[in-house]
Parts: sequence; structure tokens; C-alpha cells
Amino acid sequence: MTALIHGGSAAMDILYIRDMIIEVIDKYSTMHGINYRLPPPIASTTTRNKMWNKLIEIHPWHLHPLDILPSSRSVIVFAIPLSLEAINSNIKGEEPSIQWLKEYILTNKLIEEVGEHVSRKLKSIGYKTIGIKPTHDYDPINLRSSWSHRHAGYIAGLGTFGLNNLLITEKGCAVRLGTILTEAYIEETLKPTIEYCLVKRGVKCYKCIHRCPINALSDWSKGKYRCQERLNAIALKYKDVVRGFADACGKCATGIPCATK
Ligand code: SF4
Ligand code: SF4
Repeated sequence: MTALIHGGSAAMDILYIRDMIIEVIDKYSTMHGINYRLPPPIASTTTRNKMWNKLIEIHPWHLHPLDILPSSRSVIVFAIPLSLEAINSNIKGEEPSIQWLKEYILTNKLIEEVGEHVSRKLKSIGYKTIGIKPTHDYDPINLRSSWSHRHAGYIAGLGTFGLNNLLITEKGCAVRLGTILTEAYIEETLKPTIEYCLVKRGVKCYKCIHRCPINALSDWSKGKYRCQERLNAIALKYKDVVRGFADACGKCATGIPCATK
């Protein structure tokens, strides 16, 4: 483990945490035959970052990291980059591919395992740590979630938002995100200095908007309800085939320039 001196106090090297995550992904991908695009992007910020208060001002239903773990000092957000096989399989047609749906379910499980593994390791050296559940923590009526991994990732510097409302990381937006809160002080990450979405950089794109089969992204305030309806319908339709609840679609995260980079 590398200890850095940062702002007067010792900070744990974020690559030490990344190695712990890779350890879990390696075992899991071998077991399930998934070629995750390693290494996983990872970022960290402190629980004192003023952007948490700003986020809560805009989304009062969102928790502050200290509401979840009052003694926490750092918020680590990581991305598991989905496999090229799953991404490519999901490009054609209006229905999501079975591979995409299966990988969605398996990756959610992996995120929980990563959270448990990192928590165990950090606890063993004296730091209370919690992994936040990857999904299904939203109010089904207004679709508000008490924790947004995307917003946490933005605050931590993991990426920037695309027009598809996804967080675009160094490995694109075809990723699943997870958050870990810890008492350990983890080296803070520098924020991206450019927008990763082409349109926000002044380049014509809008591909994600056109990819949505129900045109939900052109007016997200109304479209998000139609999107959720579609995801729920997909989950019910494919539950026996994929052996789980895959409320996923991913058409706006595949077949686009920012899917993998
Ligand atoms: S597809 Fe284009 S417009 Fe959409 S998020 Fe990616 S870069 Fe931005
Ligand atoms: S997940 Fe599917 S339905 Fe929802 S916005 Fe993206 S493409 Fe549209």
C-alpha cells in the first residue's frame, strides 16, 4: 500500500483500491466468462466536498455520504466497463440483446461483491467501509433514488455527463457504476478538464438521442417515465430467459461514439 502525504494528512493511494477491485473482477470474469475491459476507471473525493451539498440542494431526496456512514472521509466511485461482446451484441434491433441483459444482472452482482471485498479489506486495517447497492433503490412513483452513482461519479471526477444522462468515463458510458464509502482517506482524483460528450464540446453527434427506440431522450422530464416503463416491461418479458430482473435496455449506451471511450 502506498501512503501519500496530501494536504497535511496521509492519503491512501487510489491504485491500491483499484487493485483490490481488479482482484474481484478477475475471479468473477473467469467464473462467468465475461471479458470486462480492464482496468476499471476509479475516482475518489472527500465527504467534505461542497458539491455534495449542491447536489442535495438540487435533489433534496439524495443522501449526503455522511447520512450513510457518518464517520466516512472518502467516497470512491468505480466503473465496471462492460464487455465488447455485450456492447456489440446490443447494437442491432430495438430489443436489448440477451447477452446485454445477462451481463447487466451479473455485473450488478459483481458490484456488490466488489463493495463487500473492499469493505472487508479496509475494515481489516481499521477503517469502517460500506459498499452502496448498485441499483433498485429508487421510488417507483417518481423514479427518485436516494443515491445516484452517476452523480457521485461526477463529483468524484470519474467522468462527465452525456446527452444520454449517463456518465461518460475514460472507458465510455457502457459501464456499470458502484460507490464505496470509507473512513480511510483516499487520494483525491483530479476532475476531467474537458467534456467527454461530443455535443458539449461543440461537435455534432446526438447519436444517443436517435438510438432510443421510444424517443425518450429528446424530452427527458417526460421521457424518463416512458423509459422506466419500457425497462420494466423488458424485465418481465425476459425474466425466465435471463434468470433475473434485468430492467435494462442500453440502446442509448451502445452503437455510439462514447460507448467505450
Ligand atoms: S452519443 Fe454523442 S451526444 Fe450522445 S452522449 Fe455520446 S457523445 Fe454525447
Ligand atoms: S435506456 Fe432505452 S428506453 Fe431508456 S433512454 Fe436509453 S434507449 Fe431509451
